[in-house]
Amino acid sequence: MSAATAWTIPEVRAALDTGKISARELVKEFYARIERHNGELNAYLALSPDRAYAQADRIDAAIASGDALPPLAGVPLAVKDVISTHGIPTTCGSRILEGYRPPYDATAVTRLEHAGAIVLGKTNCDEFAMGSSNENSAYGPVRNPVATDRVPGGSSGGSGAAVAANLAVVALGTDTGGSIRQPGSFCGVAALNPSYGRVSRYGLLAYASSLDRIGPFARTVRDVAAVMSVIAGRDPLDSTSAAAPVPNYVAALGRPLTGLRIGIPDDYFAEGIDPEVRQKVEGGIRLLEKLGCRRVSIRMPNTEYAIAAYYIIATAEASSNLARYDGVRYGLRVPGGTLIEMYQKTRGRGFGTEVKRRIVLGTYVLSAGYYDAYYLKGQKVRSLIARDFHEAFEKVDAIVTPTSPVPPFRLGERTSNPLQMYLADIYTVTGSLAGVPGISVPTGKTAEGLPVGLQIYGPAFGEDRVLQLAHAFEQAGGAEL
Ligand code: GLN
Repeated sequence: MSAATAWTIPEVRAALDTGKISARELVKEFYARIERHNGELNAYLALSPDRAYAQADRIDAAIASGDALPPLAGVPLAVKDVISTHGIPTTCGSRILEGYRPPYDATAVTRLEHAGAIVLGKTNCDEFAMGSSNENSAYGPVRNPVATDRVPGGSSGGSGAAVAANLAVVALGTDTGGSIRQPGSFCGVAALNPSYGRVSRYGLLAYASSLDRIGPFARTVRDVAAVMSVIAGRDPLDSTSAAAPVPNYVAALGRPLTGLRIGIPDDYFAEGIDPEVRQKVEGGIRLLEKLGCRRVSIRMPNTEYAIAAYYIIATAEASSNLARYDGVRYGLRVPGGTLIEMYQKTRGRGFGTEVKRRIVLGTYVLSAGYYDAYYLKGQKVRSLIARDFHEAFEKVDAIVTPTSPVPPFRLGERTSNPLQMYLADIYTVTGSLAGVPGISVPTGKTAEGLPVGLQIYGPAFGEDRVLQLAHAFEQAGGAEL
């Protein structure tokens, strides 16, 4: 890929302030790059130039009249295609929503635009956010900009790739079991899954409502913090959004790490971890120690049940959430025959294989005879996993793990084995089940040059601490380990 200015938020601001570039010119530059590279990467599914240029012109007008600029003025933003954008196609990577244009914006998008960000378009993802490689998109896979024969991770693969390839400065993704953190790790960028309830889900097309969260991708931790400061906070339109006050995440970044206790769960380094990933994460932990952190060995004894519990709870909720795609209200309709036949044809043709697998699985675990054996048991395991985190945070300030047990794999390498694909979510689904925040930051590269991610978990609503650790790690050269 051609080298380009890798803009960060402060660089955009400085360029606008000094008149080096106008917001309109910046948008033009990004669309030119997208035009050059999207054919190969397939990171964007839809572009929104009218809306982007209109916003850019508003910012340029504010600059011309000397008005104070909002914090994200002129920052080019990519939005995962499961997040509603008024009038811009929103497909969830599915045929069943082909042609659907939401009549409203998600709260996160409204807030970012209000803060001056510019929506460039919508990014590719696994269908309804179900997947870990972006290969489940009905509109084709995304290629990893770092190594184009590899997957970018999933399900927010387009958002990770767009930021890594400088096709956006920041991006929104969603994470239900790892879909922000794992593509962040695979694409070599910073990516935060906030606490459950920290960011409004209003306008997010639901996959598993008790697990879904919206969060940012960016090239620096500082930029992740800047986006979080805008999108976090109570929203009357989402009753599960929390009223807890929103700290100034950027201001919290500079604090020293001296004395912070980082928990290293032995259970996470047991089996199935790639040796190079292990080595890079160990190196990352040593760097945190050099920065003043104290390493504490901890146990997370229920980790081995996390994948099973996650895939029961997530599919159960998905089977219910996806019942609304019936050919009547949104997107695709395959007409013909009776009403039931129309439903069958529409859903049969509109959903892909993985989505159907999960609807069937979810319906099964909720069905009368199996509810106690599967769904109820899954919920009990969820409580035990949350307790593992809770007990750990009585002894430590943060928990450090790999983000993914493996580096980015080749396209097609794992598509024939869904279970193998599910098992790779082991380090991320635990935090999803527990509701706690987790960030992935680059911790060096494998011998082949593939990015490895270090995950930092904090207690619920401890985003400021997670960001503080990740920022210090990044500033100390964590990405070059
Ligand atoms: N890979 C996990 C799944 O397929 C996580 C997806 C997500 O976080 N949206 O469910």
